[in-house]
Amino acid sequence: MRGRGLAAVVMGLGLAVALAGPAPADPPAHEPGGPCLEPGQQVSLSSLPSYEQVVRQLRSIESSSRGAVEVASAGQSGEGRQLYYATVGDGPDVFWLQSRIHGNELHSTEAALQVLRYLGSSGSPEAQRIRDELTVVVIPMYNPDGATANIRQSTTPNRIDLNRDWENFAQPESRAFYALWEQLRPRLALDLHHFGQASRVVGSDELNNFQIGARSIDPSRMTAEQWLTNRQMAMISVDAVSQMGVAGVARYPLIDITNAVLSRMLLGGPGPGGSDPGFMTQGAIFYEVRSVGQKSNGQLEQLFVRPSMAVLNAAADGSLYGHPGTGWDALPFGQGVPCGGGPDF
Ligand SMILES: [Zn+2]
Repeated sequence: MRGRGLAAVVMGLGLAVALAGPAPADPPAHEPGGPCLEPGQQVSLSSLPSYEQVVRQLRSIESSSRGAVEVASAGQSGEGRQLYYATVGDGPDVFWLQSRIHGNELHSTEAALQVLRYLGSSGSPEAQRIRDELTVVVIPMYNPDGATANIRQSTTPNRIDLNRDWENFAQPESRAFYALWEQLRPRLALDLHHFGQASRVVGSDELNNFQIGARSIDPSRMTAEQWLTNRQMAMISVDAVSQMGVAGVARYPLIDITNAVLSRMLLGGPGPGGSDPGFMTQGAIFYEVRSVGQKSNGQLEQLFVRPSMAVLNAAADGSLYGHPGTGWDALPFGQGVPCGGGPDF
């Protein structure tokens, strides 16, 4: 009994420190250019929750939240899995937090569940304010078929990249989550990814731990307000990662991908069949966290959780929209290209 009680206390402290506390140690010295996660490489998934375990965790979070969290399905995947999402809070601004659109980008799911668990159960003023001011929509596993197969894309024969499918809407996952987006009309969106190669920050010897993606499309395709909001979200995220004591923050390559989920949210459609949703998401950015060569899964998860919480807090108290958003252009890039030769996002 005593041991279990102590373990519970330590776990509780761990969460508190993880969400609010000081920083992990500096990353180890790093040899640039690798390691790379190759297709077909065996990866130990035993410490990571399966789709079935994610569903059980969602139900557990829902039932212990005393009504704060509601779990629902947006539809079914290609293989017939329910596309679960959870909603917490009842504020006027909808905040979309999406994970694991690429099935083999592992730690984003656990990070999203950590944020949901905290927002759903914490009595802290921070969590209360977020629940009062925002309606947070958490999608812990956008691509459950790809996650189960541990591949990036869908498991259909032509292997559709679900983050390139918001123009064709060939996959049921795309149509289901588009309909949810159209229904909920989120003001802000965050999309969590991993990049495959452990590269180095240009101009330094730092291992590149975190890349910030303030633009999935060229800023000329956005309104001035959207491009400002994206940079505000991005620089608040960068500040949060820097405060963790984690060095090695870089800008994601300057892509212009119009069929990605975030891009279509910013462009305001068109939806399946050319439909017009009649609104645009104001701010939509993505994170890329280092995925291989890791020492600690917990640290990788915190590289998602901490900046996500910072943006949620800033959206809830309104400071996000007063942030200058400056500094983006001065961020360094990562050295080298991701595994597979192209951008991950
Ligand atoms: Zn990705």
